[in-house]
Amino acid sequence: RKYVVRKAFKDYLPERNDFEIVDEVIPALNDGEFLVKAEYISVDPYMRSFADGRDVPYDQFGFQVGKVVDSRNSHYPADIHVVSHSGWRDFSVLTAEPDPMFNVTPYRPHTGSLPISLAIGALGMPGITAYLGLTEICDPKENETVCVTSAGGAVGSLVGQIAKLKGCTVIGFAGSDHKVNMLLNELGFDYAFNYKTTNVKEALNSTGNIDCYFDNVGGELAKIILGNMKEHGRVAICGSISTYGKKSRRKALKAPVSVKMEAFSFTQWDITKQQAAVSQLRDWLESGAIKAKETITNGFEELPDTLLAMLKGENVGKAVVKV
Ligand code: NDP
Repeated sequence: RKYVVRKAFKDYLPERNDFEIVDEVIPALNDGEFLVKAEYISVDPYMRSFADGRDVPYDQFGFQVGKVVDSRNSHYPADIHVVSHSGWRDFSVLTAEPDPMFNVTPYRPHTGSLPISLAIGALGMPGITAYLGLTEICDPKENETVCVTSAGGAVGSLVGQIAKLKGCTVIGFAGSDHKVNMLLNELGFDYAFNYKTTNVKEALNSTGNIDCYFDNVGGELAKIILGNMKEHGRVAICGSISTYGKKSRRKALKAPVSVKMEAFSFTQWDITKQQAAVSQLRDWLESGAIKAKETITNGFEELPDTLLAMLKGENVGKAVVKV
C-alpha cells in the first residue's frame, strides 16, 4: 500500500481526505533490488512546504525505516534494517540508487542499543539537522545565549540540549505549557516560554539578548527574536513552519547589521560529516547526556492525521508512525 496525495493542500492544512491509500502489487525482484517492509514512517514539516507548487496526484514522499524481507542485492541482505526516502508505503522495492529529492542512498542505520525508530529521528535527518545546523552555523561558545523555536519538537528539542552541553544558556519557545514544562524540567533548558500565551518581547527582556538563534518557525516570532540579538550574533535559518502554506512565505527575514544569518539544508553537509554527527548524538543518547523525545502513533491508516497533528503542534519531539 502507498499514499497518494489527491488534492494539493497549498493554502490550508492538509486533511485526511486529501490522501488516498492505493494498493500496489509487489513485483518479483530483479537483480540489485530488495524488498523492505516499513516499521516506522516519518511525518515532517517539509511534507507541507514541498507540497507547494507540486502537481497532484503524487506519491507522498518521506523517510522510513524498515526491514529487508527479500533481497537480490548482497549489500542489502534479508533481515537488516534500512533507512530510505521511499515515502508512505508499507512495502518498497528499492535499489542502491539515491532518491531524487534528497539524494539519499538507502542505508543501514546505526542506532546501537537505542530504539530503531530513532533512525528517522534523533539519529536521522532531524538529529543531523539539529547538530550540524547548530554547531556549523551558529557555532555557539561557552556562556553564550542560544535561543531556539519549536523547541519541543524533533529538531528544536535536540538543539537546546546540544547547546546546554556546549555550556550555553538556552531559551526555548514552544506552543504549549506541557512542552514548556518538559523543556524546563526534563531537558535542562534555562528558560522556556509558551509563545502563544506569553509576550515574547517581555520574555526576552527578562532573559537578556541572544548570541545564537536557531530558527525553526520564521514569521512574527522570528522577527521579534531577531530584534533581540547581540552584536556579532549568528542565526541559523532551519525552517519557517509558521509560514508554510501562506503567501507571506517568501518574505525574507532581516537580521541586524552585525548579525550573520544563514539558511541551510541538512543535505549541504557530506555523508562523512552527517555520520560523525549521528555518532556523536548516539554517544550522548547512550550515556544519557541528551534525551530523544518521540510521539509514536500506531497504524498506517493514521499517517495523514499524524501529519496534521504535527503541523498543529500536538507532537512532542519527533512524530513517527509505527506500521
Ligand atoms: P517539529 O517536531 O518541531 O514539529 C513541528 C512543530 O512546529 C509543531 O509541533 C509546532 O510546535 C510548531 N509549529 C507549528 N505551527 C507553528 C507556528 N505557526 N508558529 C510556531 N510554531 C509552529 O518539526 P521538526 O523538528 O521536524 O522541524 C522543525 C523545523 O525544522 C521545521 O521548520 C522544518 O521545516 C525544519 N527542518 C529543516 C531542515 C533543514 O535541513 N533545514 C531539516 C528538518 C527540519 P509548537 O507546539 O511549538 O507550536
